[in-house]
Amino acid sequence: MKLFECQNCGQLLYFENVACEKCGHRLGFDPQSLSLITLKEARDGWKPLGRLGGSWRGSKVRFCRNAEEGVCNWLVPAEGSEDYCIACRLNRTIPDLGPPENRDLWRKFESAKHRLVYGLLRLGLSVPSKADDPDGGIAFDFLSPQAEPDGVITGHESGLITLNLDEADDAKRELNRKNLHEPYRTVLGHFRHEIGHYYWDQLVANGPWHERYRAMFGDESLDYQVALQQHYQNGPAPGWQENYISAYATSHPWEDFAETWAHYMHITDTLETAGAFGLKVEPQAGRKGANRMAVDYARRAPDFDTMMDRWVPLTTALNTLNKSMGARDLYPFVLTQTITAKLRFVHDLIADSTGR
Ligand SMILES: [Zn+2]
Ligand SMILES: [Zn+2]
Repeated sequence: MKLFECQNCGQLLYFENVACEKCGHRLGFDPQSLSLITLKEARDGWKPLGRLGGSWRGSKVRFCRNAEEGVCNWLVPAEGSEDYCIACRLNRTIPDLGPPENRDLWRKFESAKHRLVYGLLRLGLSVPSKADDPDGGIAFDFLSPQAEPDGVITGHESGLITLNLDEADDAKRELNRKNLHEPYRTVLGHFRHEIGHYYWDQLVANGPWHERYRAMFGDESLDYQVALQQHYQNGPAPGWQENYISAYATSHPWEDFAETWAHYMHITDTLETAGAFGLKVEPQAGRKGANRMAVDYARRAPDFDTMMDRWVPLTTALNTLNKSMGARDLYPFVLTQTITAKLRFVHDLIADSTGR
């Protein structure tokens, strides 16, 4: 994620900010330029102090309707008829906001969803809503299991992504993490995983990448329900860590792809953040050893290999920092050659699909 600057006073700003802490100006996120814009109230909307991107240049803007709910700071053009921003337009079902705890949980979902959409747009991917494209679009159902007599199963089906609101509850999610023996479980991870299934449908299925996908991830025509059942019964095969980023990825080639996709998004976002902070990793010990490293994250990696070369030293530093705070590893993963090849597949697939 990038860092931003107030266009009125130069204050450092973050993606989630709604007002400048220094000068008090309202802020809105422009999904066309992917930047936070400082705003001045005008008669018929908000006037941007910064330059809007793409076709919005020179327009006045309004806030997404979800700004009223305190869950969105994204903008829409003032003259358009659309009430919701590109990220909130993906919502089909939001939780019942009657129970007060639901609003907090929903806010956590929105925070992750907006970061997800930012990441997708940044990669150059299109993020259509089912409201506009019923067959090829994306829709989210955020369901509270307390309101669903049959429970809620997190998953993806033809662009419809269902997420269980309980996962925004830290205690419940942590319990699930423990019961499923997962080293990592986050709301953002769920969003990035489920959207991976959507882009598999869009970019891989029945296209020029399908053969290569099967060669690398396996044959997805394998019965999905049976495979999942077997996974939950028997667990992953011994030695799975060599070929899979997570135990869940072993359950079915679709899950392997979605896990790898999510992981690729973790890496690109975290590297961008490190770059935005001008982070440098240059351990002041072991400089003569084979593991000597010195990376300046402000320079953007020109290709996949460089990106991965830079990723490992950063995760080493982050894990060690976490230990200093008594927390567990921020990055509890090991990248082998096979896993890296799968990440490269996702990288190349996105590059090919977006022409970047
Ligand atoms: Zn300011
Ligand atoms: Zn919105």
